Amino acid sequence: RAIVRDLTGVAEQNPALPPGRVPIQEVDPTVFETRFLRKIKDLGEGHFGKVELCQYDPRGDGRGQLVAVKSLKPESRGQLWREIDTMRELYHHNISSALIMEYLPAGSLKDYLPWRKHQTDLRRLLHYALQICQGMDYLGSQRFIHRDLAARNVLVENESTVKIGDFGLTKSMKEDKSYYTVREETDSPVFWYAPECLVDCKFYPASDVWSFGVTLYELLTYCETSSSPTTVFLEMLRPIQGQMNITQLVEVLMAGRRLPCPPHCPDAHKKENCIYKDKHVFPGVFIRAAF
Ligand code: ADP
Ligand code: MG
Repeated sequence: RAIVRDLTGVAEQNPALPPGRVPIQEVDPTVFETRFLRKIKDLGEGHFGKVELCQYDPRGDGRGQLVAVKSLKPESRGQLWREIDTMRELYHHNISSALIMEYLPAGSLKDYLPWRKHQTDLRRLLHYALQICQGMDYLGSQRFIHRDLAARNVLVENESTVKIGDFGLTKSMKEDKSYYTVREETDSPVFWYAPECLVDCKFYPASDVWSFGVTLYELLTYCETSSSPTTVFLEMLRPIQGQMNITQLVEVLMAGRRLPCPPHCPDAHKKENCIYKDKHVFPGVFIRAAF
């Protein structure tokens, strides 16, 4: 069975190749055969499936490349094919490629940040935020809405580079539309959603900006579970017998209540809060404005 592979790597290894052409004498590098995949361990599990660390070892000598393989629960298979279609259309430095992916040992920002608090200063957090913006800007320019932007879906390539991943919920806007209407809704990341998504099931590029705000909150709280959006919103809602409904959440948001400003959140207009002093000024004022 053919699965789309890491197109980033292919492009980097073959810079001279015109797009869409592969030398005939070689094995097609865009095709992975599942029979050569050997599972090593589980990497993570999301709403719809799981990601496993595998070795791709077609020669059978145990020296094959390490890859992260995403597979979905049988009921979500249609979703996987949609995600593959989405990935085919996207190529950008801050967008991760799927669905057999390069293995990123550091995992997502949610796996990484809680353990790196002391090595990760504000400047670095803002640099991650900037890269997320750049990836999202590209996604928007291609008329896609991600719909699941969250720290758990931002992968850490190395300590200075992050990539947006998990395009399982990503939708393409039709030419004549500026939003996407969701028909079948399964298990949504509601605490990352803007009111219009919760009330009307409409997703605009600006709805991703709301999720970016929540992701920024996660960054500035170092993805600590005790102050995660889910924990904090559930405390606000005080669900009756563990039951929370969307109406309650909408009421809270409409009343203007938001996630609290994280401790150590930078104040506006401080020079040292700019990532790049000359060109890309990204001052703390944006950060405060988000809460
Ligand atoms: P889901 O649709 O199940 O949420 P994700 O693509 O978000 O799938 O992956 C789930 C988790 O698996 C991530 O939060 C991360 O911890 C881990 N993971 C995903 N991709 C990789 C990768 N390329 N390398 C290492 N870990 C990964
Ligand atoms: Mg995910």
